[in-house]
Amino acid sequence: MLCDICQEREATIHTTHIVDDVLRHGNLCDKCFEASKPAEANDLTTALQAGCRYCGGEPYGGGDDPIARLSGVRKVSFMCKPCGEEYYRFLSQKWPGLGETTITTEQIAKIRTSDMSSILIEAEDHMKKWVAEKK
Ligand SMILES: [Zn+2]
Ligand SMILES: [Zn+2]
Repeated sequence: MLCDICQEREATIHTTHIVDDVLRHGNLCDKCFEASKPAEANDLTTALQAGCRYCGGEPYGGGDDPIARLSGVRKVSFMCKPCGEEYYRFLSQKWPGLGETTITTEQIAKIRTSDMSSILIEAEDHMKKWVAEKK
């Protein structure tokens, strides 16, 4: 598969992102990826060094948060395994069917009709309390 941008080199990086409610897959070569995402790569490095965004623990999963992105916020952050599990457990109560790694266009549509910002604020509050109680 050739790179989407230059159509010359083999695509080695496959990305998924949401543009106008549509889940898009991008295929880029190393060079075009570097060129197109310098800011994002820096954000990733910074976020990775900061560790889990709730407890500061060892980062387990994360990156560009697709849910935060839906509400118009660009957020790159990581969570440790227990915090990530708890975060998605909480969100899946609000948005049934929400998976940790996959998000379908149907789910996006459903999420869009809900009060996203207040649910995300609730999730943040919940996580802070959850981490505080755990300590
Ligand atoms: Zn390319
Ligand atoms: Zn954590």
